[in-house]
Amino acid sequence: MNLDLKKVAEYMRKADLEDLLDRVTVYRDDMEPAALDLFEGELSRRGVNRAAIAEHDVDCRSDAIQNADGTIAHCSFCSRPAVMQGRGWHRLWRRIPVFPRLFAYCRSHAPTVPTAS
Ligand SMILES: [Zn+2]
Repeated sequence: MNLDLKKVAEYMRKADLEDLLDRVTVYRDDMEPAALDLFEGELSRRGVNRAAIAEHDVDCRSDAIQNADGTIAHCSFCSRPAVMQGRGWHRLWRRIPVFPRLFAYCRSHAPTVPTAS
């Protein structure tokens, strides 16, 4: 695989902290070693130590959905680890329901369940 380290470095500088932490922890196996080195260097530059990285790893894996191959499932709406799944409609242009499908949701995109009060 050809890895364009210039593009990786450009992406890395713009990435938020959670994204960088996800990539060096739960998505570590999906990363090229050279890109992983860059991301770990960026985290170090931002003042994130190994203990904080390990804590993020434990926190994410505590409720993340694991695929059959052992990898962590991605949210259907962003790159964060999925924590729940649910059926919904695949919508054409975000409006017209076309067919039902399974969606994966991260903590931010998980639908809220109304509570009885
Ligand atoms: Zn999400």
